[in-house]
Amino acid sequence: MTKNLLNMSLEELESALLSLKEQKYRTKQLYTWFYQKHVTDLNQMSNISVSLKEKILQNFEIKIPEITDISRSLKDNSYKFLLKTHDNKLIESILMPVKDRVTICVSCMIGCPLKCKFCATGSQIGFIRKLDQSEILGQIIAINHYAKENNIAQNISNVVFMGMGEPLLNLENIEKSVKILLDPNGFGLSRSKITLSTAGITDKLSDFINKYRIKLAVSLHFSTDEQRSKFMPINIKYPLKKLIEELKKIVLAKRDYITIEYLLLKDINDSLDNAKQLIRLLDSLKIKVNLIPYNPTKDFPATSASEESINNFAKFLRSKNIMVTVRRSLGQDIEGACGQFALKKN
Ligand code: SAH
Repeated sequence: MTKNLLNMSLEELESALLSLKEQKYRTKQLYTWFYQKHVTDLNQMSNISVSLKEKILQNFEIKIPEITDISRSLKDNSYKFLLKTHDNKLIESILMPVKDRVTICVSCMIGCPLKCKFCATGSQIGFIRKLDQSEILGQIIAINHYAKENNIAQNISNVVFMGMGEPLLNLENIEKSVKILLDPNGFGLSRSKITLSTAGITDKLSDFINKYRIKLAVSLHFSTDEQRSKFMPINIKYPLKKLIEELKKIVLAKRDYITIEYLLLKDINDSLDNAKQLIRLLDSLKIKVNLIPYNPTKDFPATSASEESINNFAKFLRSKNIMVTVRRSLGQDIEGACGQFALKKN
């Protein structure tokens, strides 16, 4: 199989170019085109010689997913992109430009194996496959390129792994991607601009976060094993005690915290008793709670907690000195909001 230059680390790219009898400095030039200028079309690379372009075309490929559809939310100015992979599968990414902060929410899998009851991805698509480095970073490259060309935004400033899929079940490709996101010669993002969201796979969680020191969000949503296992079957294998123990191993800088995502479902987990339970559970951790109104999905009959109970829940947590934000879920009218990633076409 022809190797894709976008699936390589800096070192691998260097060996690939050396194997073509090219000089070392070419590596940096290509790397800059890909990750800083968001250009993957050799024709646009003005400082790359014709002979090198030919050699690359003969020996390697340069491939990222292709944008096939874009919808813009009229409510909040977010954009949903559909991208097509080499094997004709569709992935979704969301771009959220808010003044200087330009956030992209990327997918790491096509579908998801976790089957959380409230999330459209697992229940409607099932699990198809993991995305590789070129497909994960390719979402950012393709969309940043498009955003610049169309004057939507300049450089993407924040990356959240909160699209389709479970990042900790595709850790190899997430790790390769994170290295290039952090590399000053790559995307050059600082560690605090990258967030990984997990449903709570504990095997390598703290090791990974402690190694790269990126931000962590945990989709907790329920504070008892009974409820959590019912709605998030992954909790059976990784119950709360195990999860909390793992979170305690994370070394946080002075200003850092773990974000706890908590989906508020009417009459299921939105009472003040639930809030008390949550506080008890998280007692030993440095956290911020992000309350998420539920975005309706087809197969899950629950409704979102009311505005009033969301406010009461938030007020109660704040009265116990817990930092709280309420997510303004972007992209609801384009089905780009959390849990609404579902592609019937796959
Ligand atoms: N698998 C990872 C990454 C997906 S992130 C994780 O679970 O964290 C997607 C976020 O949206 C998660 O917090 C998820 O629990 C939340 N979510 C899923 N379905 C939702 C829905 N219908 N409404 C609101 N949030 C939802």
